[in-house]
Amino acid sequence: MLPRYKRIVLKLSGESLMGNGADGFEPFNAPVIEQYANEIRTITDLGVQVALVIGGGNIYRGANEIETGIERAHGDYMGMLATSINGMAMQAMLERIGVDTRLLSAIKMEQVAEPYIRRRAIRHLEKGRVVIFAAGTGNPYFTTDTAGSLRALEIKADVILKGTRVDGIYTADPEKDITATKYETITYQECILKNLKVMDMTAFTLCMENNLPIVVFDMNKPGNLLKVVEGLNVGTLVN
Ligand code: UDP
Repeated sequence: MLPRYKRIVLKLSGESLMGNGADGFEPFNAPVIEQYANEIRTITDLGVQVALVIGGGNIYRGANEIETGIERAHGDYMGMLATSINGMAMQAMLERIGVDTRLLSAIKMEQVAEPYIRRRAIRHLEKGRVVIFAAGTGNPYFTTDTAGSLRALEIKADVILKGTRVDGIYTADPEKDITATKYETITYQECILKNLKVMDMTAFTLCMENNLPIVVFDMNKPGNLLKVVEGLNVGTLVN
C-alpha cells in the first residue's frame, strides 16, 4: 500500500518515554523507546520521511516560579535542555536498530547536535535520515507541541502526528464519561467550539491558520503508526 503521507512530523511527549515502568529517578523506559524506534523504522522502510519532536516533561517542565523559585524563562530553558536529552536517547535507539538519524537543536550544542537549519533538515529528510528536532522552538513560553507545528510547516510536512496514550479525540473524557465517543475526523473550528484540547492554543492555531492536518492517535498500540501513515482509520484526523 502506498503511504498517504510522504513527510511527517511525529510529536511524542516526554512522559511517553517513561511508559508505565519508570519512576521519579528514571526518565526512560528502554523497551518503550525501543518499541517506538521499531515503529518508526517500519515507516522509514516504506520511504516515509520522518521528523521527530519529543517533549521534555519526563525530565523537566518550566514550572510555577513562586513554587520553584526558578524564573519562568529560566525554567523553560531547562525544559528545552530536557527535550535534548530525550532526543539523544531516541537517537541512540534508532541508530542501534540501523536507522540513520540527525539531531538538530534549536539551542546550540555543537558537540552533540547540529544547529537547526531549515534547509539542512529538509536535505537530511530527502536522504532518508530521521531528523530529531531538539530544544523545542528555542524560545521560552512555548511548548514542544508548538515546536512540532512550527517545524512541520517549515519543512512542509504533510501532517503532524500527535502520538498519545488515547486513541483519538473524544466527545468527552473517555476515562470519566462512558458515553464518550471518538471522532474519526473533526474540523479545527469544531475543536475550538467544543473546547476539545488537542494541543495548546498556540500550536493548534498555527496548524489551523496554515491548514496543517493533525492526527491524534495511540502511539503505544503496536502497528498504529504504520496504520496512520497508510491512511487507515486510526485515531482522529483534524483538518
Ligand atoms: N519549552 C520551551 N519552549 C519550547 C519547547 C519547550 O520553553 O519551544 C520548555 C517548557 O518549559 C516546557 C518544557 O520545555 O514545559 C518541556 O516541553 P513540553 O512541556 O512541551 O514537553 P511534553 O509535555 O511534550 O513532554
